[in-house]
Amino acid sequence: TEHTLVLVKPDGVARGLTGQILARIEAKGYELVDLKKFTPGRELLEAHYAEHEGKPFYEPLVAFMMSGDVVAAKVSGHRVIEGFRSLAGTTDPTTAAPGTIRGDLGRDWDLKVQQNLVHGSDSSESAERELALWFG
Ligand code: ATP
Repeated sequence: TEHTLVLVKPDGVARGLTGQILARIEAKGYELVDLKKFTPGRELLEAHYAEHEGKPFYEPLVAFMMSGDVVAAKVSGHRVIEGFRSLAGTTDPTTAAPGTIRGDLGRDWDLKVQQNLVHGSDSSESAERELALWFG
């Protein structure tokens, strides 16, 4: 069975949407294998977002992700990496399709960083790398 890392980002936790987001994952038929809630530090976030270093949204993104608690979930299921990205919707929450987490629950709040409620690993290589970072 495939595993992926899902993060409910600080906007999702602060808005009280954690339960709704996790419920959608369970309703799809995926399993929540492990869960934790904490405010991540800069070192973890710089490792997690290493591929974006130098991009204009990188610093605002790291600052946003350090701004409060996140909920990290290890999620399993057949084709869960692709399946969760489909549930999440496209990156831009303003235009993400209705029916998706970002489309139903998200919108833009500021111009520097897209506060789009969730993260999901984008490949099996990323999932393995990210799960090692967040769950050790
Ligand atoms: P997706 O892969 O579906 O785009 P993601 O969360 O994996 O979603 P990344 O491209 O890995 O997106 O970018 C990481 C995060 O950085 C995004 O989720 C978003 O919060 C922020 N981000 C990405 N691109 C931009 C951008 N052009 N402007 C502002 N913030 C951005």
